[in-house]
Amino acid sequence: MFNKLCIIGAGLIGGSIAISARKHQLCNDISAYGREQDLENLQRAKELGVIDSYSTDLAEAITDAECVIIATPVGAMPALFRQLQAHWDESVLYMDAGSTKGSVIKALENAFARLPNNFVPAHPIAGAENSGVEAALDNLFDNKRLILTPIAETDKKFIQLATEFWQRIGSAVSSMSVDQHDAVLAATSHLPHILAFSLVNLLGKKDETADIFKYAAGGFNDFTRIASSDPTMWLDICMANKEHILPLINELCVELNEVKVKLENNQAQPLYDTFSYAQQARQRFLKQHQ
Ligand code: NAD
Repeated sequence: MFNKLCIIGAGLIGGSIAISARKHQLCNDISAYGREQDLENLQRAKELGVIDSYSTDLAEAITDAECVIIATPVGAMPALFRQLQAHWDESVLYMDAGSTKGSVIKALENAFARLPNNFVPAHPIAGAENSGVEAALDNLFDNKRLILTPIAETDKKFIQLATEFWQRIGSAVSSMSVDQHDAVLAATSHLPHILAFSLVNLLGKKDETADIFKYAAGGFNDFTRIASSDPTMWLDICMANKEHILPLINELCVELNEVKVKLENNQAQPLYDTFSYAQQARQRFLKQHQ
């Protein structure tokens, strides 16, 4: 599809995109851009054959690339768009892989006088708790959803090219508005991560005096797996999407308080109904998912 692909941020997601693109023969040459502090990761990416070359000079890394994918934490994107703007090429397909989309579009608006028609915002609904290129996989996107959130300015030709790229690395591509994406992901991904981080925080402090993690069982591991995720990435996501996350935190507090009141008042049947409704809702979700 492309002679040269450039990855900005060759970590778990960027590295997996690179390996998958190579596996499916979607490009001949893969370069990466990173900062001085990313050099060790970039060197490792080259040793592993994930990329062919790297540079800490953005202009050099993107030279002759026909597709550029930004896979850094979302907080890094405003500065990257400002840097990219000076070298923008109308014929190149640009995409990001960030977990929030409103913040990415806002950053794009701030960097460009006129929104480019060749930037296609993308979010792979695939990932893991591990970070860095060592965690990259060639099948991370296999049979996983990929959401595109094109804006009015986005050219159909580039949307088609982006769709083909993600489909050929195994993803099932869907499209939705920026706002719908951020609302849905706040509920299904961002809120659960905040909950997991908060629970482990609470129990971690107790563990310092009561040794409780020693007795933690499978349920604890299942529920808190996502609290092993990268704090920088999650700080960026939460700050970027707080408009959608804050009302959900309020709703969750109300829900928790209702459980508390039912317990305080020994309301066994209403409490059973709450758990039972949740169990059935999850069964429905699992069926849909399968
Ligand atoms: P990661 O930490 O594994 O990789 C990010 C890479 O970006 C690192 O290699 C880092 O060195 C580099 N980087 C950071 N700032 C940079 C900058 N200013 N310039 C150049 N390089 C920079 O993180 P990841 O899990 O691959 O996440 C990358 C993006 O993908 C994030 O926007 C995240 O929201 C999104 N995402 C993550 C997941 C997931 O499950 N991990 C899933 C879907 C989307």
